[in-house]
Amino acid sequence: MAPPLTIGFDADDTLWHNERFYRLTEARFAELLADFADAGHLTERLLQAEKRNLGKYGFGIKGFTLSMIETAVEVTDGRVPAATIRDILDAGREMLDHPVETLPHAKEALEALSGRHRLVLITKGDLFDQERKLAASGLGDYFDAVEIVSDKSCGTYQRIFAAHGDGPDHAMMIGNSLKSDVIPAIEAGAWGVFVPHDLTWSHEHADEPDAAPRFRKIVHLGEIEAVLAEIG
Ligand SMILES: [Mg+2]
Repeated sequence: MAPPLTIGFDADDTLWHNERFYRLTEARFAELLADFADAGHLTERLLQAEKRNLGKYGFGIKGFTLSMIETAVEVTDGRVPAATIRDILDAGREMLDHPVETLPHAKEALEALSGRHRLVLITKGDLFDQERKLAASGLGDYFDAVEIVSDKSCGTYQRIFAAHGDGPDHAMMIGNSLKSDVIPAIEAGAWGVFVPHDLTWSHEHADEPDAAPRFRKIVHLGEIEAVLAEIG
């Protein structure tokens, strides 16, 4: 039998739905500001604000809400009504209450792997929100460790796979973001398994590292067993 690996799982849009709530809120945001700008322009300005603020606010809903407010102030030249700011805050708060819906195959895959491998949840975002979602998902017991990080870089994976196992050589990261989950994990020396989700934030896009020997792509988490069997 193959020796155990440390397997890192991304959470948002790998184990449960997430991006769809951002898209819904973005549509609501566009409606609120329809008198001032068209939806396409708002999406673009909001994305610019989010990227600008990532280094200060980090990833997650709170930063997204602040970026919506900032964009509303910008596109209205400071004339955005207080009632609209209130509606934006309400929309952000509702995102923090959204139900957690796990993706197909997620629970079964974790069930099959836990005990045989060391499983670590590795996610970025608001601390409270990620803890809430993990608790609500019912998946928490499958994990040997949970790491909620501010960003996912090569160094992040080196540190986590050293702390929870035998280093990146004996580790694998699985996630829907090439930029955050797959490429930096491969750079760290681990396997990087890409499981695409049909909705992924444009900031997380990157080219598939086809030439990397430790890159794999699967359609859903039910295929992870086959990857493990293949890499031995
Ligand atoms: Mg994700």
